[in-house]
Amino acid sequence: MATAWVLGSMGWMPARKQQTACVLVELGSDLVLLDAGTGIANLGLCANVLARHERLCVLLSHFHLDHVAGLMYLKRFAADKTVDVYGPGTYAYPRSTEDYLSDVLQPAVYSSGHTGFARTVRYHDFSGSRFVVGDVRVGVRPQRHSSPSFELRLNDDVVYATDTSFYAEDWREVRPAKLLLHECWQASGRDARHTDIQSLVAGVPNAFGRVVLIHQNPAWDDAERVEVEQAALSRGFELAYDGMAIEG
Ligand SMILES: [Zn+2]
Ligand SMILES: [Zn+2]
Repeated sequence: MATAWVLGSMGWMPARKQQTACVLVELGSDLVLLDAGTGIANLGLCANVLARHERLCVLLSHFHLDHVAGLMYLKRFAADKTVDVYGPGTYAYPRSTEDYLSDVLQPAVYSSGHTGFARTVRYHDFSGSRFVVGDVRVGVRPQRHSSPSFELRLNDDVVYATDTSFYAEDWREVRPAKLLLHECWQASGRDARHTDIQSLVAGVPNAFGRVVLIHQNPAWDDAERVEVEQAALSRGFELAYDGMAIEG
């Protein structure tokens, strides 16, 4: 049983009152943030959920700024908490997760530094394609993007797939989950780094319970947005918005 709150449903930059990549998930006694984009600024919408937990786990799909820039905002929401940050570091890159984030949050850029935004901050590299965080079974799966990025799975409750190009053949063997949060970057046309709605509509396996589209494109004009919405609706997919609560 999991409940998810979309805190940032946009990719690249905030637009249309939507912040960048961040989803909060509560699974029993565990609280997990999927990516740490500017959507962390919306954590105040879940203040009662935060208050129930002393520890927050942050799972990073990759290190692009629209997925990590919100870590510094945690100081407002997690000053009394332990934060464990898991990233693809040495699992897929030359350097560790802590190395990359200590660059991003170096004191010249962010005065509290990369360990200063919570009572305790610990960094971890993915230890394999499956590992355990609290009572949650986490699965990570490589995606197709400009830098190594990873699909993140929490038990069979949530699959979070952003910053990837979608190919149906990559999904034939995938165990379905109750909720699929998948990026949708364009109305049409293939892109080696991102997903178009037509490919998703044609290729997402039916067994996923609910499909919600995240990492939307701030450059969409109104016509493109309507085009995406209508195509999504043909399969019952929903466009995420910031503050959207999804009960498991
Ligand atoms: Zn992104
Ligand atoms: Zn990216």
